[in-house]
Order: sequence, then C-alpha cells, then structure tokens
Amino acid sequence: MTTLIAVRGDITRQRADALVNAANSSLLGGGGVDGALHRRGGPAILEECRRLRATAYPEGLPTGRAVATTAGRLDARWVIHTVGPVHSTTEDRSALLASCYRESLRVADELGARTVAFPAISTGAYGWPVDDAARIAVAAVRAVPTAVEEVRFVLFDDRAYETFAARLR
Ligand code: ADP
Repeated sequence: MTTLIAVRGDITRQRADALVNAANSSLLGGGGVDGALHRRGGPAILEECRRLRATAYPEGLPTGRAVATTAGRLDARWVIHTVGPVHSTTEDRSALLASCYRESLRVADELGARTVAFPAISTGAYGWPVDDAARIAVAAVRAVPTAVEEVRFVLFDDRAYETFAARLR
C-alpha cells in the first residue's frame, strides 16, 4: 500500500529517502526546483550529473525518463532527476508527464527507497496548468505498482497545495 500525501513547503527541506528533481535534459542545473536542490545539496550532485552526461546520457536525459544521483547534503539518500515535458509540447505530453512519475518510482524501487517526495513537475518554467498537472500526477502514481510506502507531493504555493490536496481527498 502506498500512501499519497500533499504538503505545502520547500522540497529542499524535506526528509525522505529520495527527493525528485524537476530537472532539464541537460542535467546540468537550471532554475526553480532544480536550482534550489543543487544549491542546498552542494556540488556533489552536479558532479554526478556531469558524470552521467559524459557516460550514460551524452545527449541529455530524455523527457519522461528518470535517473538517480547522491543527495549531497540534502536530508535524503538520493535525488531522482526527471525531465518533465514543456506544456506546449504537441505530442503525447500527458503521457510524458505521467511517465516522469512512473519512471521516478521505478528508479526509487530499484534503489529501495520507501519515501519519495515529488515537486509539481512541469508546473513552473515548463508552463503546465496546476489543475491538469495534479490530475495526471495523482493518477500516474496511483496506477504504478511500487514498494514505495509514502509518496509526498511537496507544493510551493497555496494554490498548488490546495489543488493537489483536493485531488487526494
Ligand atoms: P519545471 O521546469 O518542471 O516547470 P520548476 O522548477 O520551474 O519546474 O517548477 C515546478 C514547480 O515547483 C512549480 O510549481 C514551482 O512553483 C515549484 N517550486 C519551485 N521551487 C520549489 C521548491 N524549492 N520546493 C517545491 N516546489 C518548488
């Protein structure tokens, strides 16, 4: 049984086995959640991202996929980086957003993570309306068979929090 909860807050201050990063495909950092996690987590995360770029993902991490690194100084064991679709993507964008959640949980299972915190992927710089993103996120997580015991959606602002909380009621 996986428990889904929504909390209002800053994902960089969460304690969980894995914190999910709304990364971009370069894996080399960005704004929003990405910048905040790297800032608080320290350089070890970027170092590992650079290694992944040089080895497994020379062309970048594809949209909808996920990969784990150390969590550096964050209060977690791993950061799972996933690349959300830009909302203006024309093809299969909802399937790609659902894939971010599914793939992140698959990676979490491989690692043995029991608690995983997600931000509202694609709802910042990537422009996805929160309502629709919450619907897709919650449906995707509910549909995945996983050993993860707690999936925590961490929402930065009141509106996003209320939207996710309403979906979970
Ligand atoms: P994307 O590029 O996938 O849209 P962003 O990082 O720009 O990713 O934004 C994703 C969501 O995360 C937005 O709703 C934004 O308000 C929120 N957000 C930004 N910083 C944080 C943070 N420190 N903790 C949790 N959520 C955050």
